[in-house]
Amino acid sequence: MDDIIDFIVIGSGPTGAEVARTISDAGKHATMIDVGINAEQADNTDNDFLSIRENYTNQKDLFLGKFYESVPWGDIKTGAQLTPNRKFIIDLVDIITPIISSNFFPMESLAYGGLGSGWGLGCYSYSKSEIEQIGLNYNLMNDAYNNLAKYVGIASPDGDAFKYCMNNSQYLLPKLKMDNSISKLYDIYLKKREELNNKGLFMGFPPLAIITENHNDRNKCNYFDMDFYTDVNKHSYRPWLTTNKLIEKGSLNYISNHLVIDFKQDADGIVSVNTTNIKTLAKVTYKCRKLIIASGALGTARILLRSFKDKLSRLSLLSNDYTYMPCLNLKMLGKPLEQFKTSMAQAVMFYDPTQKNENPVSIALFTYRSLLLYKLIKESPLNFKDGLSIMNFLQSAFVIAGIHHPDSESSKKYCNLVKNDNQYTSDALFVSFSQKKEIMQRDNDNEKKLMSLMRKLYCFPIKRIKAGNGSSIHYAGILPFNTSNNGVILNEKGNINISNNVYIADGSGFKYLPAKGITFTLMANAHNVAKNAINS
Ligand SMILES: Cc1cc2nc3c(=O)[nH]c(=O)nc-3n(C[C@H](O)[C@H](O)[C@H](O)COP(=O)(O)OP(=O)(O)OC[C@H]3O[C@@H](n4cnc5c(N)ncnc54)[C@H](O)[C@@H]3O)c2cc1C
Repeated sequence: MDDIIDFIVIGSGPTGAEVARTISDAGKHATMIDVGINAEQADNTDNDFLSIRENYTNQKDLFLGKFYESVPWGDIKTGAQLTPNRKFIIDLVDIITPIISSNFFPMESLAYGGLGSGWGLGCYSYSKSEIEQIGLNYNLMNDAYNNLAKYVGIASPDGDAFKYCMNNSQYLLPKLKMDNSISKLYDIYLKKREELNNKGLFMGFPPLAIITENHNDRNKCNYFDMDFYTDVNKHSYRPWLTTNKLIEKGSLNYISNHLVIDFKQDADGIVSVNTTNIKTLAKVTYKCRKLIIASGALGTARILLRSFKDKLSRLSLLSNDYTYMPCLNLKMLGKPLEQFKTSMAQAVMFYDPTQKNENPVSIALFTYRSLLLYKLIKESPLNFKDGLSIMNFLQSAFVIAGIHHPDSESSKKYCNLVKNDNQYTSDALFVSFSQKKEIMQRDNDNEKKLMSLMRKLYCFPIKRIKAGNGSSIHYAGILPFNTSNNGVILNEKGNINISNNVYIADGSGFKYLPAKGITFTLMANAHNVAKNAINS
Protein backbone atom coordinates (compact mmCIF):
# COMPACT_ATOMS: atom_id res chain seq x y z
CA MET A 1 0.00 0.00 0.00
CA ASP A 2 3.09 2.26 0.15
CA ASP A 3 2.57 3.68 -3.30
CA ILE A 4 -0.91 4.92 -2.43
CA ILE A 5 -0.91 8.66 -1.90
CA ASP A 6 -3.19 10.17 0.76
CA PHE A 7 -4.26 13.27 -1.18
CA ILE A 8 -3.80 14.04 -4.86
CA VAL A 9 -4.66 17.57 -6.01
CA ILE A 10 -5.02 18.27 -9.73
CA GLY A 11 -3.93 21.78 -10.75
CA SER A 12 -1.75 24.55 -9.31
CA GLY A 13 -4.09 27.51 -9.91
CA PRO A 14 -5.65 29.55 -7.08
CA THR A 15 -7.93 26.65 -6.08
CA GLY A 16 -5.29 23.91 -6.27
CA ALA A 17 -2.81 25.99 -4.25
CA GLU A 18 -5.48 26.70 -1.64
CA VAL A 19 -6.36 23.01 -1.34
CA ALA A 20 -2.67 22.19 -0.82
CA ARG A 21 -2.32 24.94 1.81
CA THR A 22 -5.36 23.70 3.72
CA ILE A 23 -4.04 20.13 3.70
CA SER A 24 -0.65 21.33 4.89
CA ASP A 25 -2.21 23.45 7.67
CA ALA A 26 -3.98 20.30 8.87
CA GLY A 27 -0.56 18.68 9.28
CA LYS A 28 -0.97 16.42 6.26
CA HIS A 29 0.89 15.93 3.01
CA ALA A 30 -0.40 16.20 -0.56
CA THR A 31 0.80 15.46 -4.07
CA MET A 32 -0.09 17.96 -6.78
CA ILE A 33 -0.33 16.76 -10.39
CA ASP A 34 -0.14 19.55 -12.90
CA VAL A 35 0.86 20.31 -16.45
CA GLY A 36 2.63 23.28 -14.89
CA ILE A 37 4.19 25.16 -17.81
CA ASN A 38 6.64 27.69 -16.43
CA ALA A 39 7.87 31.08 -17.57
CA GLU A 40 11.13 30.82 -19.46
CA GLN A 41 13.58 33.39 -18.15
CA ALA A 42 11.08 36.10 -17.26
CA ASP A 43 12.64 39.57 -17.27
CA ASN A 44 12.23 40.66 -13.65
CA THR A 45 13.62 44.17 -14.02
CA ASP A 46 12.80 45.95 -10.78
CA ASN A 47 12.08 49.58 -11.53
CA ASP A 48 9.07 51.74 -12.22
CA PHE A 49 7.49 51.83 -15.66
CA LEU A 50 8.53 55.36 -16.64
CA SER A 51 12.15 54.84 -15.52
CA ILE A 52 12.29 51.62 -17.52
CA ARG A 53 10.89 53.43 -20.55
CA GLU A 54 13.54 56.12 -20.15
CA ASN A 55 16.60 54.04 -19.34
CA TYR A 56 16.25 50.33 -19.92
CA THR A 57 18.01 49.12 -23.05
CA ASN A 58 16.15 45.82 -23.29
CA GLN A 59 12.70 47.34 -23.02
CA LYS A 60 11.62 46.20 -26.47
CA ASP A 61 11.79 42.55 -25.37
CA LEU A 62 10.19 43.31 -22.01
CA PHE A 63 7.23 45.24 -23.38
CA LEU A 64 6.74 43.92 -26.91
CA GLY A 65 8.43 40.54 -26.75
CA LYS A 66 11.48 39.13 -28.53
CA PHE A 67 9.32 38.36 -31.55
CA TYR A 68 6.81 41.18 -31.00
CA GLU A 69 4.49 38.49 -29.65
CA SER A 70 2.70 41.00 -27.41
CA VAL A 71 1.50 43.13 -30.32
CA PRO A 72 -2.14 42.19 -30.87
CA TRP A 73 -2.28 41.87 -34.65
CA GLY A 74 -5.74 41.31 -36.07
CA ASP A 75 -8.93 41.22 -34.05
CA ILE A 76 -8.89 41.61 -30.29
CA LYS A 77 -8.98 38.11 -28.82
CA THR A 78 -9.16 36.73 -25.30
CA GLY A 79 -5.57 36.84 -24.04
CA ALA A 80 -4.61 40.02 -25.93
CA GLN A 81 -3.90 41.60 -22.54
CA LEU A 82 -1.09 39.16 -21.69
CA THR A 83 2.38 40.72 -21.78
CA PRO A 84 5.49 38.81 -23.02
CA ASN A 85 6.44 37.71 -19.48
CA ARG A 86 2.93 36.29 -19.07
CA LYS A 87 2.39 34.59 -22.43
CA PHE A 88 3.47 31.27 -20.89
CA ILE A 89 0.10 31.24 -19.13
CA ILE A 90 -1.62 30.13 -22.32
CA ASP A 91 1.24 28.12 -23.84
CA LEU A 92 0.26 24.78 -25.44
CA VAL A 93 -3.40 25.15 -24.46
CA ASP A 94 -4.60 25.11 -28.09
CA ILE A 95 -2.59 21.96 -28.73
CA ILE A 96 -3.10 19.94 -25.55
CA THR A 97 -6.63 20.99 -24.57
CA PRO A 98 -8.33 22.22 -27.75
CA ILE A 99 -11.75 23.86 -27.71
CA ILE A 100 -14.13 23.74 -30.64
CA SER A 101 -16.69 26.49 -30.67
CA SER A 102 -18.11 29.19 -32.88
CA ASN A 103 -19.47 31.29 -30.02
CA PHE A 104 -17.27 30.77 -26.94
CA PHE A 105 -13.66 31.98 -26.73
CA PRO A 106 -12.26 31.24 -23.29
CA MET A 107 -8.77 31.66 -21.91
CA GLU A 108 -7.51 28.48 -20.26
CA SER A 109 -4.17 27.77 -18.71
CA LEU A 110 -1.87 24.79 -18.24
CA ALA A 111 0.68 26.92 -16.42
CA TYR A 112 2.26 26.68 -13.00
CA GLY A 113 -0.20 28.88 -11.08
CA GLY A 114 -2.86 28.51 -13.80
CA LEU A 115 -4.75 31.64 -14.81
CA GLY A 116 -3.84 32.92 -11.37
CA SER A 117 -0.33 33.67 -12.68
CA GLY A 118 -1.89 36.63 -14.46
CA TRP A 119 -5.17 37.34 -12.70
CA GLY A 120 -6.18 40.97 -12.18
CA LEU A 121 -6.31 40.53 -8.36
CA GLY A 122 -9.90 41.81 -8.03
CA CYS A 123 -10.81 40.09 -4.77
CA TYR A 124 -14.52 40.13 -3.94
CA SER A 125 -16.50 38.20 -1.39
CA TYR A 126 -20.07 37.45 -2.38
CA SER A 127 -23.06 38.59 -0.35
CA LYS A 128 -25.25 36.18 1.61
CA SER A 129 -27.86 36.01 -1.14
CA GLU A 130 -25.20 35.51 -3.83
CA ILE A 131 -23.60 32.65 -1.88
CA GLU A 132 -26.98 31.03 -1.41
CA GLN A 133 -27.76 31.38 -5.11
CA ILE A 134 -24.47 29.62 -5.87
CA GLY A 135 -25.66 26.77 -3.65
CA LEU A 136 -23.22 27.21 -0.75
CA ASN A 137 -23.51 27.88 2.99
CA TYR A 138 -22.98 31.53 3.97
CA ASN A 139 -21.44 30.96 7.42
CA LEU A 140 -18.97 28.37 6.18
CA MET A 141 -17.97 30.59 3.28
CA ASN A 142 -17.57 33.60 5.53
CA ASP A 143 -15.19 31.63 7.79
CA ALA A 144 -13.18 30.62 4.74
CA TYR A 145 -13.10 34.20 3.40
CA ASN A 146 -11.70 35.33 6.75
CA ASN A 147 -9.05 32.65 6.86
CA LEU A 148 -7.99 33.50 3.32
CA ALA A 149 -8.07 37.26 3.71
CA LYS A 150 -5.52 36.99 6.55
CA TYR A 151 -3.31 34.75 4.47
CA VAL A 152 -3.55 36.44 1.05
CA GLY A 153 -3.58 40.07 2.21
CA ILE A 154 -6.25 42.23 0.59
CA ALA A 155 -6.18 45.99 0.11
CA SER A 156 -9.53 47.15 1.44
CA PRO A 157 -12.31 48.45 -0.76
CA ASP A 158 -13.69 51.76 0.41
CA GLY A 159 -16.46 54.25 -0.16
CA ASP A 160 -19.83 53.30 -1.60
CA ALA A 161 -18.35 50.23 -3.29
CA PHE A 162 -17.52 48.56 0.03
CA LYS A 163 -20.87 46.90 0.63
CA TYR A 164 -20.80 45.36 -2.86
CA CYS A 165 -17.26 43.99 -2.46
CA MET A 166 -16.83 42.60 1.02
CA ASN A 167 -18.73 41.22 3.97
CA ASN A 168 -18.07 43.41 6.98
CA SER A 169 -16.16 41.05 9.16
CA GLN A 170 -13.19 40.44 6.90
CA TYR A 171 -9.61 41.19 7.88
CA LEU A 172 -8.40 43.82 5.41
CA LEU A 173 -5.26 45.88 4.82
CA PRO A 174 -5.29 49.66 4.26
CA LYS A 175 -6.67 50.66 0.88
CA LEU A 176 -4.46 51.35 -2.14
CA LYS A 177 -3.79 54.81 -3.51
CA MET A 178 -6.03 55.84 -6.41
CA ASP A 179 -4.13 57.45 -9.30
CA ASN A 180 -4.57 61.10 -10.30
CA SER A 181 -6.85 60.30 -13.25
CA ILE A 182 -9.46 58.21 -11.45
CA SER A 183 -9.20 60.47 -8.37
CA LYS A 184 -10.59 63.25 -10.56
CA LEU A 185 -13.59 61.10 -11.45
CA TYR A 186 -14.01 60.13 -7.83
CA ASP A 187 -14.02 63.78 -6.71
CA ILE A 188 -16.83 64.51 -9.16
CA TYR A 189 -18.65 61.37 -8.02
CA LEU A 190 -18.50 62.55 -4.40
CA LYS A 191 -19.92 65.94 -5.38
CA LYS A 192 -22.81 64.37 -7.34
CA ARG A 193 -23.13 61.38 -5.06
CA GLU A 194 -26.80 61.70 -4.14
CA GLU A 195 -27.96 62.21 -7.71
CA LEU A 196 -25.82 59.30 -8.97
CA ASN A 197 -26.85 56.97 -6.14
CA ASN A 198 -30.50 57.69 -6.89
CA LYS A 199 -29.84 56.59 -10.45
CA GLY A 200 -28.14 53.40 -9.24
CA LEU A 201 -24.41 54.24 -9.51
CA PHE A 202 -22.06 53.52 -6.58
CA MET A 203 -18.30 54.05 -6.66
CA GLY A 204 -15.27 53.46 -4.46
CA PHE A 205 -11.82 51.96 -3.98
CA PRO A 206 -11.38 48.40 -5.28
CA PRO A 207 -10.62 45.27 -3.23
CA LEU A 208 -7.36 43.90 -4.63
CA ALA A 209 -5.12 41.03 -3.54
CA ILE A 210 -2.22 43.46 -3.21
CA ILE A 211 -0.52 43.97 0.13
CA THR A 212 -0.20 47.53 1.40
CA GLU A 213 1.89 46.43 4.41
CA ASN A 214 4.85 44.03 4.44
CA HIS A 215 3.60 40.49 4.97
CA ASN A 216 5.99 37.60 5.78
CA ASP A 217 8.55 37.57 2.95
CA ARG A 218 6.40 39.75 0.71
CA ASN A 219 6.98 43.49 0.25
CA LYS A 220 4.23 46.07 0.33
CA CYS A 221 3.09 47.63 -2.93
CA ASN A 222 5.74 49.86 -4.55
CA TYR A 223 3.39 51.48 -7.11
CA PHE A 224 5.87 50.79 -9.92
CA ASP A 225 3.07 50.33 -12.47
CA MET A 226 4.69 47.09 -13.62
CA ASP A 227 2.00 44.73 -12.38
CA PHE A 228 1.25 43.34 -15.85
CA TYR A 229 4.89 42.41 -16.36
CA THR A 230 6.56 41.22 -13.18
CA ASP A 231 5.88 39.93 -9.67
CA VAL A 232 9.41 40.49 -8.43
CA ASN A 233 8.23 42.58 -5.47
CA LYS A 234 5.68 39.90 -4.51
CA HIS A 235 3.04 42.45 -3.48
CA SER A 236 0.41 40.73 -5.64
CA TYR A 237 -0.97 37.38 -4.53
CA ARG A 238 -0.09 34.63 -7.00
CA PRO A 239 -0.83 30.95 -6.31
CA TRP A 240 2.79 29.97 -6.92
CA LEU A 241 3.74 31.93 -3.79
CA THR A 242 1.80 29.30 -1.84
CA THR A 243 2.89 26.29 -3.85
CA ASN A 244 6.59 27.24 -3.76
CA LYS A 245 6.42 27.62 0.00
CA LEU A 246 4.69 24.26 0.54
CA ILE A 247 7.19 22.46 -1.67
CA GLU A 248 10.04 24.10 0.24
CA LYS A 249 8.44 23.15 3.56
CA GLY A 250 8.12 19.53 2.43
CA SER A 251 4.35 19.30 2.76
CA LEU A 252 3.72 19.17 -0.99
CA ASN A 253 5.12 16.88 -3.65
CA TYR A 254 4.77 18.62 -7.00
CA ILE A 255 4.60 16.56 -10.21
CA SER A 256 4.69 18.70 -13.34
CA ASN A 257 4.36 17.83 -17.05
CA HIS A 258 1.51 15.43 -16.35
CA LEU A 259 -1.89 15.88 -17.91
CA VAL A 260 -4.65 14.08 -16.02
CA ILE A 261 -6.85 12.20 -18.47
CA ASP A 262 -9.39 10.51 -16.18
CA PHE A 263 -9.84 8.70 -12.86
CA LYS A 264 -11.56 5.61 -11.53
CA GLN A 265 -12.48 4.67 -7.97
CA ASP A 266 -12.29 0.93 -7.27
CA ALA A 267 -14.35 -1.16 -4.85
CA ASP A 268 -11.82 -0.55 -2.01
CA GLY A 269 -12.25 3.18 -2.42
CA ILE A 270 -8.79 3.70 -3.94
CA VAL A 271 -8.80 6.21 -6.80
CA SER A 272 -6.57 5.62 -9.84
CA VAL A 273 -5.60 8.83 -11.62
CA ASN A 274 -4.53 8.24 -15.22
CA THR A 275 -2.12 10.77 -16.68
CA THR A 276 -0.06 11.38 -19.80
CA ASN A 277 3.42 12.82 -19.57
CA ILE A 278 3.28 15.70 -22.05
CA LYS A 279 7.01 15.45 -22.84
CA THR A 280 7.27 11.69 -23.45
CA LEU A 281 3.61 10.78 -23.99
CA ALA A 282 4.13 7.96 -21.45
CA LYS A 283 0.99 6.90 -19.58
CA VAL A 284 1.40 7.01 -15.80
CA THR A 285 -1.19 6.03 -13.18
CA TYR A 286 -1.11 7.40 -9.64
CA LYS A 287 -3.24 5.91 -6.86
CA CYS A 288 -4.69 7.83 -3.95
CA ARG A 289 -7.15 7.68 -1.09
CA LYS A 290 -8.65 11.09 -1.85
CA LEU A 291 -8.61 12.93 -5.15
CA ILE A 292 -9.30 16.68 -5.19
CA ILE A 293 -9.81 18.13 -8.65
CA ALA A 294 -8.92 21.81 -9.07
CA SER A 295 -8.24 22.05 -12.78
CA GLY A 296 -10.54 25.01 -13.54
CA ALA A 297 -14.16 24.37 -14.55
CA LEU A 298 -13.32 23.69 -18.22
CA GLY A 299 -10.37 21.44 -17.38
CA THR A 300 -12.53 19.58 -14.87
CA ALA A 301 -15.30 19.21 -17.47
CA ARG A 302 -12.94 17.23 -19.69
CA ILE A 303 -11.80 14.97 -16.84
CA LEU A 304 -15.39 14.27 -15.70
CA LEU A 305 -16.72 13.64 -19.21
CA ARG A 306 -13.97 11.05 -19.77
CA SER A 307 -14.20 9.45 -16.31
CA PHE A 308 -18.00 9.09 -16.40
CA LYS A 309 -18.44 8.63 -20.13
CA ASP A 310 -21.23 6.09 -19.61
CA LYS A 311 -23.27 8.63 -17.68
CA LEU A 312 -22.22 12.15 -18.63
CA SER A 313 -22.58 13.25 -22.22
CA ARG A 314 -23.15 16.97 -21.75
CA LEU A 315 -22.35 19.50 -19.01
CA SER A 316 -23.72 22.98 -18.43
CA LEU A 317 -21.55 26.11 -18.27
CA LEU A 318 -21.55 29.62 -16.77
CA SER A 319 -19.43 32.60 -17.74
CA ASN A 320 -20.07 36.29 -17.05
CA ASP A 321 -20.74 38.47 -20.08
CA TYR A 322 -17.95 41.02 -20.38
CA THR A 323 -17.69 44.31 -22.24
CA TYR A 324 -14.93 46.82 -22.11
CA MET A 325 -15.38 50.44 -22.83
CA PRO A 326 -12.52 52.84 -23.61
CA CYS A 327 -13.52 56.26 -22.25
CA LEU A 328 -12.01 59.74 -22.21
CA ASN A 329 -11.63 61.44 -18.85
CA LEU A 330 -11.93 65.08 -19.94
CA LYS A 331 -10.32 66.41 -16.76
CA MET A 332 -7.07 64.64 -17.72
CA LEU A 333 -6.66 65.96 -21.26
CA GLY A 334 -3.05 67.07 -21.74
CA LYS A 335 -2.15 66.30 -18.10
CA PRO A 336 0.36 63.54 -17.26
CA LEU A 337 -0.52 60.43 -15.31
CA GLU A 338 1.46 60.27 -12.09
CA GLN A 339 4.62 58.18 -12.08
CA PHE A 340 3.84 55.91 -9.13
CA LYS A 341 0.59 53.97 -9.38
CA THR A 342 -0.56 50.39 -9.66
CA SER A 343 -1.52 49.05 -13.08
CA MET A 344 -4.58 47.34 -11.67
CA ALA A 345 -8.14 48.63 -11.21
CA GLN A 346 -8.07 52.10 -9.66
CA ALA A 347 -11.73 52.11 -8.69
CA VAL A 348 -14.84 49.98 -8.95
CA MET A 349 -18.37 51.02 -9.65
CA PHE A 350 -21.62 49.12 -9.29
CA TYR A 351 -24.72 49.80 -11.29
CA ASP A 352 -27.57 48.78 -9.03
CA PRO A 353 -30.77 50.51 -10.17
CA THR A 354 -32.98 48.84 -7.52
CA GLN A 355 -30.39 49.68 -4.83
CA LYS A 356 -31.06 46.31 -3.21
CA ASN A 357 -27.68 44.77 -4.04
CA GLU A 358 -29.45 42.17 -6.18
CA ASN A 359 -27.61 41.26 -9.39
CA PRO A 360 -25.71 44.57 -9.71
CA VAL A 361 -23.44 45.12 -12.71
CA SER A 362 -19.79 45.72 -11.79
CA ILE A 363 -17.37 48.07 -13.51
CA ALA A 364 -13.62 48.17 -12.87
CA LEU A 365 -11.81 51.34 -13.97
CA PHE A 366 -8.24 51.14 -15.29
CA THR A 367 -5.88 53.77 -16.62
CA TYR A 368 -3.81 52.56 -19.48
CA ARG A 369 -0.21 53.69 -19.49
CA SER A 370 1.70 50.51 -18.84
CA LEU A 371 -0.29 48.39 -21.27
CA LEU A 372 1.10 50.68 -23.97
CA LEU A 373 -0.61 52.99 -26.31
CA TYR A 374 -0.24 51.07 -29.57
CA LYS A 375 -2.95 48.71 -28.42
CA LEU A 376 -5.40 51.60 -28.45
CA ILE A 377 -4.10 53.34 -31.57
CA LYS A 378 -5.17 50.24 -33.42
CA GLU A 379 -8.72 50.93 -32.29
CA SER A 380 -8.63 54.52 -33.54
CA PRO A 381 -10.23 55.43 -36.88
CA LEU A 382 -7.11 57.50 -37.81
CA ASN A 383 -4.04 56.30 -39.69
CA PHE A 384 -1.06 55.41 -37.46
CA LYS A 385 0.95 58.63 -38.02
CA ASP A 386 -1.93 61.04 -37.36
CA GLY A 387 -3.21 58.71 -34.68
CA LEU A 388 0.10 58.80 -32.82
CA SER A 389 0.28 62.57 -32.31
CA ILE A 390 -3.35 62.83 -31.30
CA MET A 391 -3.08 59.79 -29.08
CA ASN A 392 -0.02 61.28 -27.38
CA PHE A 393 -2.20 64.20 -26.33
CA LEU A 394 -5.10 61.98 -25.31
CA GLN A 395 -3.30 59.05 -23.73
CA SER A 396 -3.32 60.05 -20.08
CA ALA A 397 -7.05 60.74 -20.38
CA PHE A 398 -7.90 57.18 -21.44
CA VAL A 399 -9.86 55.15 -18.95
CA ILE A 400 -10.85 51.57 -19.62
CA ALA A 401 -14.07 50.44 -17.97
CA GLY A 402 -14.34 46.64 -17.72
CA ILE A 403 -17.98 45.67 -17.25
CA HIS A 404 -19.13 42.31 -15.87
CA HIS A 405 -22.74 41.10 -15.99
CA PRO A 406 -24.23 38.32 -13.84
CA ASP A 407 -24.82 34.90 -15.40
CA SER A 408 -27.21 32.09 -14.55
CA GLU A 409 -28.02 28.62 -15.81
CA SER A 410 -29.62 28.03 -19.20
CA SER A 411 -29.88 25.04 -21.53
CA LYS A 412 -28.30 27.13 -24.30
CA LYS A 413 -24.87 26.99 -22.63
CA TYR A 414 -23.22 23.59 -22.57
CA CYS A 415 -20.15 21.54 -23.42
CA ASN A 416 -19.33 17.97 -24.45
CA LEU A 417 -16.37 16.01 -25.77
CA VAL A 418 -15.83 15.35 -29.46
CA LYS A 419 -13.17 13.28 -31.22
CA ASN A 420 -10.01 15.12 -32.19
CA ASP A 421 -6.68 14.00 -33.61
CA ASN A 422 -4.43 15.57 -30.94
CA GLN A 423 -1.88 13.08 -29.59
CA TYR A 424 -2.50 13.87 -25.92
CA THR A 425 -6.17 13.08 -25.44
CA SER A 426 -7.77 12.30 -28.82
CA ASP A 427 -10.60 14.61 -27.87
CA ALA A 428 -11.58 18.27 -27.83
CA LEU A 429 -14.12 20.17 -25.77
CA PHE A 430 -17.02 21.36 -27.87
CA VAL A 431 -18.77 24.40 -26.37
CA SER A 432 -22.00 26.05 -27.40
CA PHE A 433 -22.74 29.24 -25.50
CA SER A 434 -25.54 31.60 -26.37
CA GLN A 435 -27.35 33.93 -24.05
CA LYS A 436 -31.10 34.25 -24.12
CA LYS A 437 -32.36 37.31 -26.00
CA GLU A 438 -33.81 38.87 -22.85
CA ILE A 439 -30.45 38.58 -21.06
CA MET A 440 -28.62 40.25 -23.95
CA GLN A 441 -31.25 42.98 -23.97
CA ARG A 442 -30.88 43.45 -20.20
CA ASP A 443 -27.09 43.73 -20.45
CA ASN A 444 -27.30 46.12 -23.38
CA ASP A 445 -29.82 48.36 -21.59
CA ASN A 446 -27.69 48.41 -18.45
CA GLU A 447 -24.58 49.35 -20.43
CA LYS A 448 -26.39 52.22 -22.14
CA LYS A 449 -27.60 53.60 -18.81
CA LEU A 450 -24.13 53.21 -17.43
CA MET A 451 -22.65 55.15 -20.35
CA SER A 452 -24.93 58.06 -19.64
CA LEU A 453 -23.96 57.98 -15.93
CA MET A 454 -20.25 57.92 -16.87
CA ARG A 455 -20.76 61.12 -18.85
CA LYS A 456 -21.98 62.79 -15.65
CA LEU A 457 -18.44 62.19 -14.32
CA TYR A 458 -17.04 63.92 -17.45
CA CYS A 459 -15.80 60.52 -18.52
CA PHE A 460 -16.97 59.94 -22.09
CA PRO A 461 -17.32 56.38 -23.41
CA ILE A 462 -15.85 56.13 -26.92
CA LYS A 463 -17.15 52.71 -27.85
CA ARG A 464 -18.13 49.35 -26.43
CA ILE A 465 -16.00 46.33 -27.26
CA LYS A 466 -17.32 42.83 -26.75
CA ALA A 467 -14.47 40.34 -26.95
CA GLY A 468 -17.00 37.49 -27.13
CA ASN A 469 -18.48 34.89 -24.79
CA GLY A 470 -15.84 33.54 -22.43
CA SER A 471 -13.77 36.73 -22.39
CA SER A 472 -14.56 37.45 -18.72
CA ILE A 473 -12.18 34.53 -17.90
CA HIS A 474 -14.69 33.43 -15.25
CA TYR A 475 -15.88 29.84 -15.80
CA ALA A 476 -18.09 27.71 -13.58
CA GLY A 477 -21.25 25.66 -13.24
CA ILE A 478 -20.49 22.48 -15.20
CA LEU A 479 -22.11 20.23 -12.59
CA PRO A 480 -24.40 22.50 -10.53
CA PHE A 481 -24.53 21.55 -6.84
CA ASN A 482 -27.09 18.93 -5.81
CA THR A 483 -28.51 18.60 -9.32
CA SER A 484 -28.50 15.18 -10.94
CA ASN A 485 -26.94 14.88 -14.37
CA ASN A 486 -27.98 11.34 -15.32
CA GLY A 487 -27.36 10.18 -11.74
CA VAL A 488 -24.08 12.04 -11.17
CA ILE A 489 -24.44 14.55 -8.33
CA LEU A 490 -21.90 16.96 -6.87
CA ASN A 491 -22.93 18.00 -3.37
CA GLU A 492 -22.16 21.33 -1.69
CA LYS A 493 -19.25 19.68 0.16
CA GLY A 494 -17.58 19.22 -3.23
CA ASN A 495 -18.08 15.45 -3.14
CA ILE A 496 -19.26 13.30 -6.08
CA ASN A 497 -21.94 10.76 -5.16
CA ILE A 498 -20.79 7.91 -7.41
CA SER A 499 -17.07 8.26 -6.49
CA ASN A 500 -17.16 9.23 -2.86
CA ASN A 501 -13.40 9.73 -2.53
CA VAL A 502 -13.36 12.29 -5.32
CA TYR A 503 -13.88 16.00 -4.62
CA ILE A 504 -14.10 19.04 -6.87
CA ALA A 505 -12.59 22.24 -5.49
CA ASP A 506 -12.97 24.69 -8.39
CA GLY A 507 -16.13 26.50 -9.52
CA SER A 508 -17.68 23.46 -11.23
CA GLY A 509 -20.64 23.36 -8.83
CA PHE A 510 -21.55 27.06 -8.81
CA LYS A 511 -25.16 27.55 -9.87
CA TYR A 512 -24.88 31.27 -10.48
CA LEU A 513 -22.17 33.85 -11.22
CA PRO A 514 -22.54 37.32 -9.72
CA ALA A 515 -20.97 40.13 -11.75
CA LYS A 516 -17.80 40.20 -9.66
CA GLY A 517 -14.39 38.61 -9.65
CA ILE A 518 -14.93 34.92 -8.92
CA THR A 519 -11.49 33.90 -7.68
CA PHE A 520 -11.63 34.83 -4.00
CA THR A 521 -14.86 32.83 -3.76
CA LEU A 522 -13.31 29.94 -5.70
CA MET A 523 -10.44 29.88 -3.21
CA ALA A 524 -12.77 30.07 -0.20
CA ASN A 525 -14.78 27.16 -1.57
CA ALA A 526 -11.56 25.22 -2.28
CA HIS A 527 -10.54 25.77 1.35
CA ASN A 528 -13.83 24.26 2.57
CA VAL A 529 -13.75 21.38 0.09
CA ALA A 530 -10.23 20.47 1.23
CA LYS A 531 -11.41 20.50 4.87
CA ASN A 532 -14.30 18.20 3.92
CA ALA A 533 -11.91 15.83 2.16
CA ILE A 534 -9.58 15.78 5.18
CA ASN A 535 -12.40 15.19 7.68
CA SER A 536 -14.38 12.58 5.77
C1 LIG B 1 -5.69 38.43 -17.27
C2 LIG B 1 -6.60 37.83 -16.24
C3 LIG B 1 -7.23 38.67 -15.32
C4 LIG B 1 -8.08 38.12 -14.36
N1 LIG B 1 -8.60 38.95 -13.42
C5 LIG B 1 -9.34 38.45 -12.42
C6 LIG B 1 -9.76 39.30 -11.36
O1 LIG B 1 -9.41 40.48 -11.29
N2 LIG B 1 -10.55 38.76 -10.40
C7 LIG B 1 -10.91 37.46 -10.42
O2 LIG B 1 -11.63 37.06 -9.51
N3 LIG B 1 -10.48 36.62 -11.39
C8 LIG B 1 -9.70 37.08 -12.39
N4 LIG B 1 -9.23 36.24 -13.36
C9 LIG B 1 -9.69 34.83 -13.36
C10 LIG B 1 -8.86 33.94 -12.43
O3 LIG B 1 -7.55 33.88 -12.88
C11 LIG B 1 -9.50 32.54 -12.42
O4 LIG B 1 -10.81 32.64 -11.90
C12 LIG B 1 -8.73 31.57 -11.52
O5 LIG B 1 -7.39 31.48 -11.90
C13 LIG B 1 -9.36 30.18 -11.58
O6 LIG B 1 -8.65 29.36 -10.68
P1 LIG B 1 -8.65 27.77 -10.79
O7 LIG B 1 -7.69 27.28 -9.79
O8 LIG B 1 -10.05 27.28 -10.71
O9 LIG B 1 -8.18 27.42 -12.27
P2 LIG B 1 -6.91 27.84 -13.14
O10 LIG B 1 -6.30 29.08 -12.66
O11 LIG B 1 -7.40 27.78 -14.53
O12 LIG B 1 -5.85 26.67 -12.90
C14 LIG B 1 -6.03 25.41 -13.47
C15 LIG B 1 -4.82 24.54 -13.15
O13 LIG B 1 -5.12 23.20 -13.48
C16 LIG B 1 -4.10 22.64 -14.29
N5 LIG B 1 -4.77 21.67 -15.18
C17 LIG B 1 -5.85 21.86 -15.97
N6 LIG B 1 -6.21 20.70 -16.55
C18 LIG B 1 -5.33 19.77 -16.12
C19 LIG B 1 -5.19 18.37 -16.36
N7 LIG B 1 -6.04 17.69 -17.13
N8 LIG B 1 -4.16 17.73 -15.77
C20 LIG B 1 -3.29 18.38 -14.96
N9 LIG B 1 -3.40 19.70 -14.67
C21 LIG B 1 -4.41 20.37 -15.25
C22 LIG B 1 -3.45 23.81 -15.01
O14 LIG B 1 -2.10 23.51 -15.31
C23 LIG B 1 -3.57 24.91 -13.94
O15 LIG B 1 -2.47 24.83 -13.06
C24 LIG B 1 -8.35 36.72 -14.33
C25 LIG B 1 -7.70 35.89 -15.23
C26 LIG B 1 -6.81 36.43 -16.16
C27 LIG B 1 -6.08 35.50 -17.08
